[in-house]
Amino acid sequence: MKTLLEVKNLKKYFPIEKGFFGKAANYVKAVDDISFEIFAGETLGLVGESGCGKSTTGRMIVNLLEPTSGEVLFEGKNITQLSNNEKKELCKSIQIIFQDPYASLNPRMTIGDTIAEPMKINKVVGNKDLDKEVNKLLDYVGLASYHKNRFPHEFSGGQRQRVGIARALAVRPKLIVCDEPVSALDVSIQAQVLNLLDDLQKEFNLTYLFIAHGLNVVKHVSDRVGVMYLGKLVEIGEGDTLYTSPKHPYTKALLSAIPIPDPTVKKERIILTGDVPSPVNPPVGCRFHTRCSECMDVCKIDEPDMKDIGDKHNVACHLY
Ligand code: SF4
Ligand code: MG
Repeated sequence: MKTLLEVKNLKKYFPIEKGFFGKAANYVKAVDDISFEIFAGETLGLVGESGCGKSTTGRMIVNLLEPTSGEVLFEGKNITQLSNNEKKELCKSIQIIFQDPYASLNPRMTIGDTIAEPMKINKVVGNKDLDKEVNKLLDYVGLASYHKNRFPHEFSGGQRQRVGIARALAVRPKLIVCDEPVSALDVSIQAQVLNLLDDLQKEFNLTYLFIAHGLNVVKHVSDRVGVMYLGKLVEIGEGDTLYTSPKHPYTKALLSAIPIPDPTVKKERIILTGDVPSPVNPPVGCRFHTRCSECMDVCKIDEPDMKDIGDKHNVACHLY
């Protein structure tokens, strides 16, 4: 499998509180040394609770945020060290779809103009073909072409997300970061948008990084899944392996929270006690030790490294 994107020892610390000489006295360690790859054509799900650093990771990948340290390599090139021309090319290759399409659409622009704009800026097609191209994109995302003269407020949440997807597709990207694209939508609409993303992936040979809160959303769309906790990647593996034999106690807890449709199947729910600790002063050792039912002495002292446990499955836990 060809690696399309590689994240190496990526960190993002946000300064808070000004100390002496205007230097930051403290940091929110939003992403704290994570590494993983995304293979061409796959969907990698990235899950974890709010504040675990998954969205921050997504934003660094699309170059909306600069890493504090570490590298993001797209097709082997470090995206933070590109020339301006290369940056423009990269903008086309990596797009993002946001959780709230309403906030990311200009309320004063018709959706036709919204979709045409990135094509104009990036000279994807000539002006005379622009209209035809907008119609095509609307068709791909299941919206009739007469919609193009309407404004975002005239659409439902699901339709707006379709517009967001059309706009991302307009520049013919290779990788799309989907940052909780369905979590603001009604459950009935979620499946439609997920199916659309799936169809488009096949049609355009797209690669997705699919960010979500819980494991249930990414279950049906991901080839592989990574689990983040408090700025760290704690487990990553193929979807089938991760869902049937999760290793990290945090992954097990997340999985136990997924409701089973069949009431005759009994499942023990692992309730996580306590809150997620602060990312300003994360616990020493394993960051999950304050909430882990399997915590050992070593967990409070040593931070576990990511270990390859075979079957393309990696986990950061002292139990393995
Ligand atoms: Fe639990 Fe220890 Fe594993 Fe952390 S390293 S998840 S505290 S068993
Ligand atoms: Mg988020």
